[in-house]
Amino acid sequence: MRRRVLISGAGVAGSTLAYWLARQGWTVTVVERAAGQRSSGNPVDVKGPALDVVERMGIAPRLRASATAVRRIAFLDASGRERASMNINSIQGSPDGREIEIARADLAAALLSTAQDIAEIRWGETITGLTQRDGGVEVRFEHGEPARFDLVVGADGLHSGVRQLAFGPEHEFIRHMGMFVATLPVDRTLAGDHAVAMYNTPGRSFSVHPAHGIPLAAFIFRHAPVPGFDHRDLAAHKRLVTETYTGRLGIFEDFLDRVADAEDMYFDSVSQVRLPSWTNGRVTLIGDAASSLSLFGDGSTLAIAAAHTLAEELADTPTDMSAALRRYERRHRTLVKPRQRGFALAGQLLVPRSRAAIALRNTAVRTFAH
Ligand SMILES: Cc1cc2nc3c(=O)[nH]c(=O)nc-3n(C[C@H](O)[C@H](O)[C@H](O)COP(=O)(O)OP(=O)(O)OC[C@H]3O[C@@H](n4cnc5c(N)ncnc54)[C@H](O)[C@@H]3O)c2cc1C
Repeated sequence: MRRRVLISGAGVAGSTLAYWLARQGWTVTVVERAAGQRSSGNPVDVKGPALDVVERMGIAPRLRASATAVRRIAFLDASGRERASMNINSIQGSPDGREIEIARADLAAALLSTAQDIAEIRWGETITGLTQRDGGVEVRFEHGEPARFDLVVGADGLHSGVRQLAFGPEHEFIRHMGMFVATLPVDRTLAGDHAVAMYNTPGRSFSVHPAHGIPLAAFIFRHAPVPGFDHRDLAAHKRLVTETYTGRLGIFEDFLDRVADAEDMYFDSVSQVRLPSWTNGRVTLIGDAASSLSLFGDGSTLAIAAAHTLAEELADTPTDMSAALRRYERRHRTLVKPRQRGFALAGQLLVPRSRAAIALRNTAVRTFAH
């Protein structure tokens, strides 16, 4: 009998896993909370092991066609003058120079296109209950009828609902890294189509990424955790960004008007996720739900790699799911662990804490970076 898997989340990890498991003969159902696909969004990277996976999925040419053409990061002062500049690959490049930078939603859409004819995708749906019984998982949904699956995979991101149901409340696993981030589309670039422009004041960064024709502004700032923080309260997010940046943006102050008007602003605390185990019985986690590295990591690359590793292990041991899940976790943790430590360095480079640290960063970039 065909094995049945339920994947929560049609993002980067979920779409990749849906493709590989459906190809292996699983009956695949994906539930996605969003009502439909979006385009553009935060630029993310596909490199290293993930590049091999997307090549084997046949979508590398599509990804390259939608890729951004960013080559450098320009550090500006309050008047917009460039003070230092570095090759973007010095901070996030892969050692072999092979990588694709693309908007997250465009990446997710390309990955999903490989799975949508061989998997069932239910938009606007979410899991509300999980009960493990007799070697399977009984699942309740917000809208659909309850159903039973052999395996449930939480690929539902930083604020994973599956993790909440099967492992516990998110405050046990999410580590606030002392920063918040807001991103939103804007109508102009600040350093042309091939450069990210960044302006810093102590503990704050403001940048504009040219993306793939729809420039994206990002506000990243150091801030203690906000008690009762709700990652869905747009009005509170706008207040926090406005309070933090008003009077501190030099000639870029007008970008705060866009914040005030925005209905499409992404906002969240910059966080990492750490769990002692990614598997509980027949429920397992992949991608940000298991091991978010925050925006300063290789999150999308690792999400694709995790999905592929999980599918490989399930194929290798079709009769012993626990062994397959254990091996997936052991293999994938070796990729995640070294990257969890890169956060502090990226933070010092992109969000320096003091005027002296900003000046030092600019001098170091002028002296050493190319
Ligand atoms: C501002 C920003 C900048 C970033 N920059 C980079 C970068 O430069 N390089 C890089 O590699 N990574 C970057 N990342 C990280 C990268 O986006 C993530 O690591 C990657 O998308 C993780 O993939 P995922 O599939 O685990 O989660 P996601 O891509 O977030 O997908 C999760 C999916 O689950 C859905 N979902 C959520 N809750 C539920 C629910 N309860 N039920 C059903 N569906 C649900 C969501 O709608 C979404 O479609 C950045 C992230 C941010 C926020």
